[in-house]
Amino acid sequence: MKKFTVLMCALAVCLLAACSPEAPAAATTSRNPQTPPAEADLSEEAKAPPAPPEPEKSPEDAAKEAGAYEVGQIMVLMYHGLEDADAPSNSYRRTLKDFRADLRTLYDEGYRTLSMSDYISDNITTPAGKTPVVLTFDDGLPSCLTLEKGTDGSLAPKADCAVGIMNEFYEAHPDFGRNAIFYVNAHPFDEGAGTSADGLRYLAENGYEIGNHTFNHDQLDKLSREKLLAEITDVEKLVREALPDYKMTSLSYPFGIRPKEDLRGLIEKGEYDGVSYEYRAAVRVGDSGTASAPNRKDFDPMNLPRVRASDDDPAGTDLGGMFRRFREHPEYRYISDGDPATVALPEEFADNLDEASLGGKTAVLYTAN
Ligand SMILES: [Zn+2]
Repeated sequence: MKKFTVLMCALAVCLLAACSPEAPAAATTSRNPQTPPAEADLSEEAKAPPAPPEPEKSPEDAAKEAGAYEVGQIMVLMYHGLEDADAPSNSYRRTLKDFRADLRTLYDEGYRTLSMSDYISDNITTPAGKTPVVLTFDDGLPSCLTLEKGTDGSLAPKADCAVGIMNEFYEAHPDFGRNAIFYVNAHPFDEGAGTSADGLRYLAENGYEIGNHTFNHDQLDKLSREKLLAEITDVEKLVREALPDYKMTSLSYPFGIRPKEDLRGLIEKGEYDGVSYEYRAAVRVGDSGTASAPNRKDFDPMNLPRVRASDDDPAGTDLGGMFRRFREHPEYRYISDGDPATVALPEEFADNLDEASLGGKTAVLYTAN
């Protein structure tokens, strides 16, 4: 029995990250207590000598208090369609009820949404003690966004599409953040009121992001250079028609399949038919594991793994499994120190830090115990 437990732990460890076991995160506390500002006051009390200012907390102490581990693992969740059904969710169809439960569990367990562009540009604004999570939706399906006309004539998402549900959750829990990226093909969000362009505009104007999932959703390894460029730039044209100034910054590989090796550079940058583009990241299909922090040595933005948002995988590599694993092994989770300008971690894990990735950021190494 003991042998079995040890084996299971080792398995969980391997699946989460290729690194040695790490100390559990410390309890979360507020990192910047504020003293109330002094007010102009002519009372007797005001004449008393002012209380000595609270000593400034060192970045190391603040990071330790937050249990910061900013080279940890991040879940990039992969959703497709949602369905209003009593039948259980499956790999590519999440019921509305399960989607609502996912948001609730993420929130309750200390995850906060982060935009894909903030993640890949290493601008992690997640509050101290919390873990960023990136929500992605492939295929531009109506169950992700369907607009309807309100009594005043304006277009708004239906309450029971993914965007409607996220909006509602965000209103009740503003600190969860409202971030998700929608990877679209030809004819996205083509049901309900308004056009595809209205759907894209709604997303961009309400804090959501749009990414490229290629026009025809073909297997990219079967395409010639010219066809690959057309697949990418046709989506660029579609998005720019709706939003002339919008810049997509990432792509989702259809079926998770990358182009032939000699054409992979075209995912990062290219130009075709008068349209040029530049992407900083591309995502794989789930279940390819948790993704690394941008300052971790094995961060691989053009081949980012995703976690499938389901809980039917016997191997436990989907969202249900990852929730369980992060509960058992919180030491692998990215925990923020709340300050995007620093990269904080216990000094014993300094080996995981990619110093060349720091740019203008400061590494904060602290003694965990
Ligand atoms: Zn797809």
